[in-house]
Amino acid sequence: MAEPTTARLPERQSGQPVGAMVPRLFRLTERRQDTADTFTLTLEPADGLPLSFIPGQFTMLSAFGVGEVPISVSSAANLQSPLQHTIRDVGAVTHALASTPVGSLVGVRGPYGTGWQVADGEGADVVLVAGGIGLAPLRPAVLEILRQRQRFGRVVLLYGTRSPQDLLFADDLRRWKAAGVEVLETVDYGTPSWTGRVGLVTTLITRAGFDPGSALALVCGPEVMMRFTAAALIKRGVRPGRVRVSLERNMRCGVGLCGHCQYRELFICLDGPVLPFEAVSGLLGVREL
Ligand SMILES: Cc1cc2nc3c(=O)[nH]c(=O)nc-3n(C[C@H](O)[C@H](O)[C@H](O)COP(=O)(O)OP(=O)(O)OC[C@H]3O[C@@H](n4cnc5c(N)ncnc54)[C@H](O)[C@@H]3O)c2cc1C
Repeated sequence: MAEPTTARLPERQSGQPVGAMVPRLFRLTERRQDTADTFTLTLEPADGLPLSFIPGQFTMLSAFGVGEVPISVSSAANLQSPLQHTIRDVGAVTHALASTPVGSLVGVRGPYGTGWQVADGEGADVVLVAGGIGLAPLRPAVLEILRQRQRFGRVVLLYGTRSPQDLLFADDLRRWKAAGVEVLETVDYGTPSWTGRVGLVTTLITRAGFDPGSALALVCGPEVMMRFTAAALIKRGVRPGRVRVSLERNMRCGVGLCGHCQYRELFICLDGPVLPFEAVSGLLGVREL
């Protein structure tokens, strides 16, 4: 039997009692189509009370009459910014959310789970590695770092997608570059008009300018990508305890009741989704039943 993890886990966030199973009502004020299968919903609280969250947390979004799914918040973690979620249309609930008319109500529970804890990168370099839609859960972390830019050393964003058409947040990427973030993009498959890099995101790790000895690494993407990225970061010299990943396991309740997302002693909904790579390295890449 596997040993319990000794890696330092992020603090569970308090205040998610069973009453938190009741969704709040939010009105869909805007839907932006980002790529062929990915869209961003902007939501306004029907009761006027904004949702307070930390970068990396997720909510349970419900399309009434269809179901409920965990989705990371993709907007800035301040009460002035409108609440946004960036979603890939993959199945029943995400498709219903994609088809919800602007002006309709959706349900929101949460926020739930742990955050990226970007403050641990203060005084050091921060390297963020995103694969595909993994940039969405990292976006609030980038925005938080830029809000307090002087507290961090070099900030590097390595972003890989399948094709140029899958690149998300193009305007943000331009703004972040202008704000001094070293942004390196790559695609698995180029197109005739693509003049950028072609190759897996892991190939960027040796090219980027950051001090591995101090760096805090935040990684989000498909599990296989996170596994190889963490290995490449550690090979470059990043301390294993400074590599964090965000897990997307199937979950139902989001509050540690149903046990659907349990891994050993961890509930991914409570102890994650953001976890030290060390704590979950045995889980990454293992198919869910
Ligand atoms: C903490 C957390 C944060 C997430 N954040 C985002 C996000 O920001 N944006 C986003 O688009 N998606 C995110 N997901 C994944 C999202 O929850 C699933 O895509 C969604 O539950 C699929 O539901 P569905 O009814 O549309 O599809 P289903 O009909 O349930 O499934 C369609 C396909 O998606 C796969 N799938 C189902 N659930 C998951 C899951 N949890 N993770 C990965 N694949 C899944 C199924 O295996 C199947 O192949 C997140 C998941 C978790 C656990």
